[in-house]
Amino acid sequence: MNNTKIWLSSPHMGGTEQDYIKEAFDTNWVAPLGPNVTGFENDLEAYIASDSHVAALSSGTAAIHLGLMLLGVGAGDEVLCQSFTFSASANPILYLGAKPVFIDSEPDTWNLCPIALEEAIQDRIAKGKKPKAIIGVHLYGMPFQVDAIQALAKQYEIPLLEDSAEALGSTYKGRKCGTFGDFGVLSFNGNKIITTSGGGALVTRTKALKDRAVFFATQSRDQAPHYQHSEIGFNYRLSNICAGIGRGQMEVLDDHIALRRKMHDFYVDYFANIDGVKIFHEPSSDFYSNHWLSAITIDPNLTGGKTREDLRIALEQVNIECRPLWKPMHLQPIFAESPYYGGKVAESLFDNGLCLPSGSNLTAAEKARIQEALDAFFK
Ligand SMILES: *Cc1c(COP(=O)(O)O)cnc(C)c1O
Repeated sequence: MNNTKIWLSSPHMGGTEQDYIKEAFDTNWVAPLGPNVTGFENDLEAYIASDSHVAALSSGTAAIHLGLMLLGVGAGDEVLCQSFTFSASANPILYLGAKPVFIDSEPDTWNLCPIALEEAIQDRIAKGKKPKAIIGVHLYGMPFQVDAIQALAKQYEIPLLEDSAEALGSTYKGRKCGTFGDFGVLSFNGNKIITTSGGGALVTRTKALKDRAVFFATQSRDQAPHYQHSEIGFNYRLSNICAGIGRGQMEVLDDHIALRRKMHDFYVDYFANIDGVKIFHEPSSDFYSNHWLSAITIDPNLTGGKTREDLRIALEQVNIECRPLWKPMHLQPIFAESPYYGGKVAESLFDNGLCLPSGSNLTAAEKARIQEALDAFFK
């Protein structure tokens, strides 16, 4: 039997990526700037929203760092952050010497709970410190409760940074994720819905803010023939080679989203008849997820005692990669001292949830192997 590894989410090239790279070599634009960087930014702007501005950067983490800087977050400030996420959402708060305050999720979108968020805002203000920013995440491609979160940001006049690293192509009420915050963040890491091998972008509302982000990302060089610097700088720009991969990937993005959504449908069909397993899906037609990763929760009380961990091990044994859902930040050793608001939604998702192979490049034979392994476990 073929037992090659089935990945959770692996790079899926469209075919034209190498043409853009060849062009970069032929014209000697082998640098962290050049026509592919500009072209990739234009492609992203056209895709997300014609009134958006995109700065291509070396990673999504760098984009969060610069976004927080541009919001004026500095030493001693507090930043409200979704707890149920990847650590890259929160680490840049520490880079700036600021303090994260973590917020629980709500069960429909698995993202920021508006009730816990408001409680945190009021309590931090009562304690004498108004939070400097809110970081909301569209986890696994699922948009957060955009209207409710935007309303709180507006009411309390706290800017919103939208971590859309997993949600390129997802929409809320027909509008693309990445356009709802004061800043939006995208990632093109190797396992994301499109990849540049490594890369990210900051989505801004004005050209001036984009220019400011690019300024910081290229070592904050003042206007001068020599190297002169009045502000701290970073080496965060995307390379023209990586941007070439991104241009090729943009040509197939919508096809790949359709394939991820088909993979999700495959699991919806499969688990329809299995007690105790819930597949994570859009709570209403306002939400459109790219279904970057398909995820399930397992209730061992309804599966005859079979747990998430039992399934994870069973799949691992037949070389099928799967992974528990993100471990919440407020349970991470590094953030043990950080305040937390909410209940046990995120914690329970971590205890009972699993991400399943979701790539746009899974073959019929691989799907059959997944089905066989699930059958062996559940039936
Ligand atoms: C991947 C990811 C990031 C970071 O992006 P990189 O490009 O890997 O630095 C940030 N937030 C979330 C939710 C992510 O999944």
